[in-house]
Amino acid sequence: MIKAFENYEIWWVTGAQLLYGGDAVVAVDGHSKEMVEGLNNSGNIPVKIVYKGTANSSKEVEAVMKAANNDEKCIGIITWMHTFSPAKMWIKGLQALEKPLLHFHTQYNTDIPWDSIDMDFMNLNQSAHGDIEFGHICTRMRVARKVVVGHWKSQEAQKQIAVWSRAAAGKADAHSVRCLMFGMNMNNVAVTDGDRVEFEQRMGYHVDYYPVSSLMDYFKKVTDAEADALVEEYKQLYTIKIDESGEEVYWEKVRNAAKAEIALRRVLKDEGATAFTTNFDDLGGADINDPNFLGFDQIPGLASQRLMAEGYGFGAEGDWKTACLCRTLWIMNQGLEKGCSFLEDYTLNFAADCTSSLQSHMLEICPLIATDKPKLEVHFLGIGIRKQQTARLVFTSKTGFGIKATVVDLGNRFRLITSEVDCIEPKPMPKLPVASALWVPQPTFEIGAGAWILAGGTHHSAFSYDITAEYWEDFAEMCDIEFIAIDKNTTISGFKQQLRNNEVYYMLNKALK
Ligand code: MN
Repeated sequence: MIKAFENYEIWWVTGAQLLYGGDAVVAVDGHSKEMVEGLNNSGNIPVKIVYKGTANSSKEVEAVMKAANNDEKCIGIITWMHTFSPAKMWIKGLQALEKPLLHFHTQYNTDIPWDSIDMDFMNLNQSAHGDIEFGHICTRMRVARKVVVGHWKSQEAQKQIAVWSRAAAGKADAHSVRCLMFGMNMNNVAVTDGDRVEFEQRMGYHVDYYPVSSLMDYFKKVTDAEADALVEEYKQLYTIKIDESGEEVYWEKVRNAAKAEIALRRVLKDEGATAFTTNFDDLGGADINDPNFLGFDQIPGLASQRLMAEGYGFGAEGDWKTACLCRTLWIMNQGLEKGCSFLEDYTLNFAADCTSSLQSHMLEICPLIATDKPKLEVHFLGIGIRKQQTARLVFTSKTGFGIKATVVDLGNRFRLITSEVDCIEPKPMPKLPVASALWVPQPTFEIGAGAWILAGGTHHSAFSYDITAEYWEDFAEMCDIEFIAIDKNTTISGFKQQLRNNEVYYMLNKALK
């Protein structure tokens, strides 16, 4: 079991009724237990599934749904209609349910036992029509849910449940995310701004401003001994690479970067925050040459890189939406192989063979996506309020399939956009010592990048090698926000039509609510 999921559980409720007599319900109960155990033992589902018994009446359905709402550990419900379960008995329960719902259309039995099938068998294996009755009431009531179809022992079905359970964990976590903005979002930037009240209503994230002056109070209290201990840790983890700064400046900058990291981590812990933003124009103090100067001597990029790897969502330039999304991505990505990071569209490579887009940031890329042991380097960074020698981790990133995601505020709704990309090998960049990735949006650079722009996507994104659009689709549905995917089947004209259709849908949807 992966740590991020160990405090969570998913409830399994089997729909039945008492029409078939007590013996049938006992058998249904036994089958359900075996199926839940099978799923838990499959090794495919990261969140523990807890069997909550059969629901045989409207009162029982309502009771279990309300209990799920009130249970902190429960992040979602899986329903399955073993027998025919008249769906009017689900109305009040579905009205009450606030947790994500997965409807599993499966059956205890595999093959029909042709020689022995009789009416008793039929009464016990009725999900073929029981699940359809249940599906009808969900659709009639406009209940958002994921429908997974397949035998409960099949890997494909189990993997879809796993995707949904990771998204549900992300949703549950989002509900308790507090994002601290160290400074405001960058002046004049449209895409990093938006409605933080609606953001919390829809997605659960709470975003607060945190005064940089208070952060500096923490910073000045970090002792030299604490910084030295952290620098020792850096020496173990990273390749020390001293270049033009010289040894003295290098260690001074690395040590100050360690102090900034300790200060930031302390504030985040003390404030109960799991996401944060920084702004290179707001680093405390004004004039670094003032003898009373109290501020960061450099952008705390190394701290952001390392805190991201620990699971703190990060957004640069006050990008609170991406910071929160990066936190959710880190949760969904737990225990998966290749990692995730905050990224920014940096510069384009219109090469003759294939156009690609360099992904980086001035510093803040998460080392989880590194292909090699990161190098700890110090170089001059001439941007923001403090133009200084600055510590950072430098590495190249893995290659292969990836997906970037963002959420934008369109005024009347949030839109979550994903784009599939193919990460390719970059060339060395000796004069740009930052971590980076290089990718080709799918289906082609021109269509993928064009669709992203038409959708109003950001230049910052939450990127992963491990997850797929299905995770984000499930997550967006749980938040009741718009979801739109760019993938290898996207065409520009089809995509434009989808945007137009969604515009009408969300206008009407809002009017109906
Ligand atoms: Mn940026």
